[in-house]
Amino acid sequence: MKVPFVDLAASHAEVGEALGATITQLIQTSGFIGGAAVDAFEERWASYCGTRHGVGVGNGTDALTLGLRALGIGRGDEVIVPANTFVATAASVALAGAKPVFVDVDESTLLLNTSALEAAFSPRTAAVIAVHLYGQMCDMDTLGDLCRLRGVALIEDACQAHGARWRDRRAGTFGAFAAFSFYPGKNLGALGDAGALVTDDASLAARVRALGNHGRGHHPVGLVSTNSRLDALQAAALDLKLDHLDLWNERRRSAADAYSRLLSDVPGVRLTDQRSESHSVHHLFVIRTAERDALRAELTKYGIVTGIHYEVPCHRHPTFTDAGRAALPVAEAAAVSMISLPMHPHLTADQVCYVVDVIRQFSTDAAMEST
Ligand SMILES: *Cc1c(COP(=O)(O)O)cnc(C)c1O
Repeated sequence: MKVPFVDLAASHAEVGEALGATITQLIQTSGFIGGAAVDAFEERWASYCGTRHGVGVGNGTDALTLGLRALGIGRGDEVIVPANTFVATAASVALAGAKPVFVDVDESTLLLNTSALEAAFSPRTAAVIAVHLYGQMCDMDTLGDLCRLRGVALIEDACQAHGARWRDRRAGTFGAFAAFSFYPGKNLGALGDAGALVTDDASLAARVRALGNHGRGHHPVGLVSTNSRLDALQAAALDLKLDHLDLWNERRRSAADAYSRLLSDVPGVRLTDQRSESHSVHHLFVIRTAERDALRAELTKYGIVTGIHYEVPCHRHPTFTDAGRAALPVAEAAAVSMISLPMHPHLTADQVCYVVDVIRQFSTDAAMEST
């Protein structure tokens, strides 16, 4: 049996011929930049999240970077970021001209550790980026309180959390703004690169729009603008795919529940805990094990594709050597023990059982060898 890590072709088959028809129509009308498709998707995405404004941009990294710049965060500022995240979270801070300050993650969820956060605040702290990693939202109660108390901006990196909720509120509604990536493999993915920023702040939205469109518009921002727009083609494709997002997230949840149930008694396998307040959309299914590399090789042998998210914690990344001196033990231990199992909306129950069987056999053999 082959178990792919993701299956985009299966998703696109479900969307059907409308996708191809949309592309053909766009070629006929040549409305490639801006226009009704972009406006419609921006509005629909904001309303799906529960925010007033949505601004389409070129990718998730730009959503973060432009949002930070629009907030006036830059040179001399520090922005607190979890050590366990995709490097783009930290890169966006550096691209805005500010300094990322890394904090460790929680042992049970691998998300930003709110106790460790306190020690990372300084007079230069301008913002905290809550990364809703693997589809699970951070502790937004505690983060909201801490940021309000300190008077710093709370920002959501929701690039892996399309449709996720903390209690009854969706990802994107807690921060000064939230950044989404529509990279093809994300829960809602485009036919290429795309991203969006959502916010309740009309003037912030207008500044981001101007910053990503050569400064055009009625909101001079006093900053060097760039070009980071959402293509009409991507907006139209995302609009069609958004009809399926909730169902696809539900299917991810079923697969995640099955993995959790079946793996719960496998020796040496540590699951990523889910907070009860948090309604995850399971972008990735991450387990930890001491025999990570050997298990990964075994899964590959059986046709099961896995990933590591992420191999190098951000504070150890060569790009951020400046910040690389602190020991952040949970993130460092996780980096060498984590493995992401296949996770997508088209994973079958048989495939989940097959993956679990291979892991169970491997763990049993390893346990026997060590006795
Ligand atoms: C994907 C991702 C990004 C960056 O998004 P791009 O669209 O690839 O620029 C940022 N942060 C996290 C957590 C991501 O998963």
